[in-house]
Amino acid sequence: MSTDPKALPITDLRQQLDKTDDEIVRLLARRLETVALIAKAKAEHSTMIRDPGREREVLARVEALANSLGISGPLTRKIFSEVIDYSVSRQVASLVDAERSHITVAYQGQPLTYNQLAAEQYVASRGLTGHFVGLASLTQVIEQLASGQVDLAFLPIENTVAGSVNQVYDVLRERELHVVGEDSFRIELCLAAVADVPLPALRRIYSHPLALEQCSAFIDGLPQVQTAPYADSRDAMRAVAESKDPTLAAVGSPEAARAHGLVILRSEIGNQDEILMRYVALARAPLPVDERVSCKTSLILSTRHEKGALLRCLQVLGEYGLSLTKLESRPRPNRPWEYMFFVDFEGNVVEPRVAAALEALRTEALYLKVLGCYPAKATPQVAMASEIKQNNEAAPVEVSPPATPAKIAVRASKHYKLADRATRAQDTVVRVGDVLIGGDGFVVMAGPCSVESAEMIDKTALYVHEKGAHILRGGVFKPRTGPYAFQGLGLEGLDMLAAAGKAAGIPIVTEVMSPEQVRLVAEKSDMLQIGARNMQNFALLNAVGKVDRPVLLKRGMSSTIEEWLAAAEYILAQGNGQVVLCERGIRTFESATRNTLDLSAVVVLRERTHLPIIVDPSHGTGRRAYVAPMAWAARACGAHGVCIEVHPDPDKALSDGDQSLTYPEFASLMDGLGRVRV
Ligand code: PEP
Ligand code: MN
Repeated sequence: MSTDPKALPITDLRQQLDKTDDEIVRLLARRLETVALIAKAKAEHSTMIRDPGREREVLARVEALANSLGISGPLTRKIFSEVIDYSVSRQVASLVDAERSHITVAYQGQPLTYNQLAAEQYVASRGLTGHFVGLASLTQVIEQLASGQVDLAFLPIENTVAGSVNQVYDVLRERELHVVGEDSFRIELCLAAVADVPLPALRRIYSHPLALEQCSAFIDGLPQVQTAPYADSRDAMRAVAESKDPTLAAVGSPEAARAHGLVILRSEIGNQDEILMRYVALARAPLPVDERVSCKTSLILSTRHEKGALLRCLQVLGEYGLSLTKLESRPRPNRPWEYMFFVDFEGNVVEPRVAAALEALRTEALYLKVLGCYPAKATPQVAMASEIKQNNEAAPVEVSPPATPAKIAVRASKHYKLADRATRAQDTVVRVGDVLIGGDGFVVMAGPCSVESAEMIDKTALYVHEKGAHILRGGVFKPRTGPYAFQGLGLEGLDMLAAAGKAAGIPIVTEVMSPEQVRLVAEKSDMLQIGARNMQNFALLNAVGKVDRPVLLKRGMSSTIEEWLAAAEYILAQGNGQVVLCERGIRTFESATRNTLDLSAVVVLRERTHLPIIVDPSHGTGRRAYVAPMAWAARACGAHGVCIEVHPDPDKALSDGDQSLTYPEFASLMDGLGRVRV
């Protein structure tokens, strides 16, 4: 420190400044104490946490005061906006994270990269402390969360310059994880080097490609410079520091630059004034949020194969007064030129209007998955409807509540409503590959009971396709009555079935027997079958309800139509609307046939549900000779298709040989079907 006497007054002044700064911090702490008292009062009165009217008043007041004291009004407004945001997040935290104080958070990258800094900001804004685990890949982050090693995964999902982070959307689609929070983080891009060199002296600039893209305009202004991509901005900073080469520079956070002892040559070099990254916090379980906290809800939906399907889904949100904050489309996996939509809207799932809107959406969409409901951060604050009412002193305007579609109110059964014809007058059409089931068409599924070898399934696929079958069937996980009977070829058989379907150019359907198999089989099969013995396996129904794959739900052998529809409802209620029912015969006292094929169920179902209905005369009769006439009868009584077992040599079949047709028998069945008039 200097001993120059002239410097002394400055030391004094600096001490005074320090005191003032300390006082400002103490005042902020005091302000927070008052905020906590207000939060308590709000809890008693059950008002919304965020009060935009009150916030506007505070900002206007401090701005006016600042102006009268000769300080910048806009600057004061900016400072107080931050202070208010912080106060609000503390109040929200007191309602959301009341039971936790310390959490472990996984992110992709290293300390002092944007991902880690953003995770820290998020945790601090919730009034929590965190342990942060930086991992090399997104897959590792997700695995650590799924296996319970960390409490949260904190992931970048959208950038105001570079757009959406598709990988994260894919994780949300595929995994059973829940969005429990979001945050918006300001990306401060700075250029740093080992010494304070003039910009024209630089030769190379290192960083993560995304960071380089976000400051491309600045870099274009340095024509002598070449860029080099690095795995992350922190590595780039380290490489520059270690090189000690003054002609190298790196783009990254000021924090990382400081940590490596680099000199910041330029700050804020981004293409836009403000580059923001939106992050989501994922957890294994949803975190309910108090109704007084402004929330967003995120979901994925696939639309029906009908004109105006997306529009009608969005209209549902509009009807219930829910405002959309984001709509993003992503290709459906293995479905060229089909899309799923990621939708964010303002609303809390505990609000009745949100619950009603989701219920209505379930009848409108083919597949719907609620990804989570969480306190809104990355949205311009808008007044909630209830607040407008309180703050608005203008003459009252008559408004009617959002119309609840009358169709929802009409319920024939307390066990099913989404499956109910009363909910949806129009027939549901389910798409399996390029085949549509439901409506006016008639679909034939055919193939062996079990896949027995690559050769037999290849041959059968080509044959049934040539004769006009639309979908190839084949069991690989077989629900056999006895444990010593052939149990199916398992995953190996699934690969054979998939290859055969592909070679013949038709989609495939195969049975799943346990919830653990569902995701794996759904990846390879176009449709999932739930067998008769599993019709009331509720864990399995819930599991197929969570994936975006059509389901063929066979009727339980002793189940009533009511129970069958209730089973379908399990799948629909989980968000998967792509259910096709399959009548396959029921147990009666009659022993001349294996089961009694209940064709009257078809006409009952056509009346009671909008879901498509397929008939399986193979299991329904158990005898080869009876299969074709019952298939024709199925068409005549209004089924949307049939499912037929066909085998190259039925007498040698490893399962259900008695009811399997030979190739020529199948050809004659198809010929007869073409002659049935409906
Ligand atoms: C099958 O389709 O091969 C089968 C086992 O059917 P179900 O579940 O109807 O007996
Ligand atoms: Mn069978």
